[in-house]
Amino acid sequence: MKTIGLIGGMSWESTAHYYRVLNQETAARLGGLHSAPVIVHSLDFAPIAAMQAAGDWDGAGRQLATAATQLQAAGAQLIGLATNTMHLVADAITQATDLPLVHIADPTSDALLADGFATVGLLGTRFTMEMGFYRDRLQLRGLTALVPDVDRTNLNAIIYEELCRGIVSDLSRRTYVAAIERLAARGAEAVILGCTEIAMLIDDSVSPLPVYDTTDLHARALVAAALA
Ligand code: GLU
Repeated sequence: MKTIGLIGGMSWESTAHYYRVLNQETAARLGGLHSAPVIVHSLDFAPIAAMQAAGDWDGAGRQLATAATQLQAAGAQLIGLATNTMHLVADAITQATDLPLVHIADPTSDALLADGFATVGLLGTRFTMEMGFYRDRLQLRGLTALVPDVDRTNLNAIIYEELCRGIVSDLSRRTYVAAIERLAARGAEAVILGCTEIAMLIDDSVSPLPVYDTTDLHARALVAAALA
């Protein structure tokens, strides 16, 4: 099994979940005491979030490229970037090393297509919902992604002000469920939790649409790639 290099910390709440799923999936596939060979490069999220807010995507890309280079030097054989939003600068990572990057949108698309969906809701940070880089990748696979037409600022704030700080509230859960209901009314057949923390709030037991959790799907895809 290849060694997975995980660029994490964005936020550490979801990286902790990745670590668990990477190991659980490895044990499920290999059995016994097997666990995932993984090197986690967990960044300080505060300066990254400040660069996002300032629109300094080049600066953020340079930081992630450095992390990827360091992971390669440490022995990683493939790279996972444990955040949807920062896939905006995925090219900076792939240009910095010759390691394969498992793009988070790809296992998500695979799962939705396998289940027969064509029109899906996309929830995430305002960058993921508004900037097109993520929807375009889904579109290339034939998936139409609808994003909330109202309340995006609030949905975004819940991620940065609550979930990334470990705060899980019923009020915010209701806000997300209401957003999924509106997406369903506009024709979404399923919903992508396109931010690696949203599963802290939403799962199939509360969602009016089938849920596709990018954290879970991405972590499992990383294990599959490491075993391929
Ligand atoms: N983890 C989040 C995501 O998947 C948001 C934090 C970030 O901006 O990286 O998009």
